[in-house]
Amino acid sequence: MTPTGRPTRISATDVRARSRVTVDLDAVRANVRTLRELAHPAELWAVVKADAYGHGASPVAAAAVDAGAAAVCVAATAEAVALRETLADARIVVLGPTAGREHGQLRAVGAEVVVGGGELPDDLPVHLKIDTGMGRAGIRPEDVSDQSSKRIVGVMTHLAVADDTNDDAFTRQQLASFERVAAKFPDSTRHAANTAATIRFAASHYDAVRCGIGIYGLSPFADRPAGIELRPALRWETCIAALKTLRPGESTGYGRRFTADRSVRIGLVPVGYADGLPRALRGADVIVDGQRCEIVGTPSMDSLAVRVPTDTAVGAVVTIVGDGVTAEQQATAAGTLNYEFVCSIGRDPLRCERIFDNA
Ligand SMILES: *Cc1c(COP(=O)(O)O)cnc(C)c1O
Repeated sequence: MTPTGRPTRISATDVRARSRVTVDLDAVRANVRTLRELAHPAELWAVVKADAYGHGASPVAAAAVDAGAAAVCVAATAEAVALRETLADARIVVLGPTAGREHGQLRAVGAEVVVGGGELPDDLPVHLKIDTGMGRAGIRPEDVSDQSSKRIVGVMTHLAVADDTNDDAFTRQQLASFERVAAKFPDSTRHAANTAATIRFAASHYDAVRCGIGIYGLSPFADRPAGIELRPALRWETCIAALKTLRPGESTGYGRRFTADRSVRIGLVPVGYADGLPRALRGADVIVDGQRCEIVGTPSMDSLAVRVPTDTAVGAVVTIVGDGVTAEQQATAAGTLNYEFVCSIGRDPLRCERIFDNA
């Protein structure tokens, strides 16, 4: 057992669930401090929408606030209401659109809202969202008139290509456009940067930065490193549930996409796309007992097969993310981004349990 009381090895007999996500809250705290120092004197706001990108909103938000995040951001009213139960005092900003009928609830939990035009509520603190080029929610710069009589505490925008080193010109144009509008609201908090902009554009820091992916220790730059010292917080592991030796000519899985050309030992792992493991991970690596092993055949809903050494035993730990395999590598192998990969990891406690280290 580790000091936190969790078994160091997991096996089919000691896990209720079929896989286990472990989130190291010390890593979250370290990442928050790193990004905070980078953004200083701007504030760091921790983005914990989508259950903290699949990591677990309530413990992650508490750790982030602990490490100096001045606010937490979510996408939806229900997320704000749920977070308030464990986060008594922190500022909570709802980034996504909210309906008028949700405003009573938002007021009750003391949340702030982002509004992208139309009627501004005057019974809630409002962050006015300017669409400077994202082309989603937000008021166009030319449509901003004197809205200052309302409770505008913040003015914000969102950057479309801050992660793209080939398109800095577009980001600079977005920032310039934002600054012209923000000047009309001298008393409001200005915020524009996501993690990528926090790292790449000091000019985008303004009064606060809104970091999501970076606080989880993940890179905002697809398969390229973040370029700053970040610690991945999440491990995803499971175990070998059964073993089999395929004879030459035998295949494994739907579609018969892997056929043994000689005798091949495979381990069956009780994780599949119902747990958020993409079918596209056929051919990708996982770690079995410390060794890189290939996923053979197409992962199915509840299971996948791994080509394993002949001495692998039932119960051997299989690491899907961790031990040198990163979320970025798995995402790239699956043709997606680390953002989508970690958000997709199953959150059904009957199938995938979550453990928080260093809470
Ligand atoms: C999700 C989100 C962020 C965080 O983006 P990261 O790339 O994860 O840092 C910031 N701002 C807004 C408006 C968002 O929706």
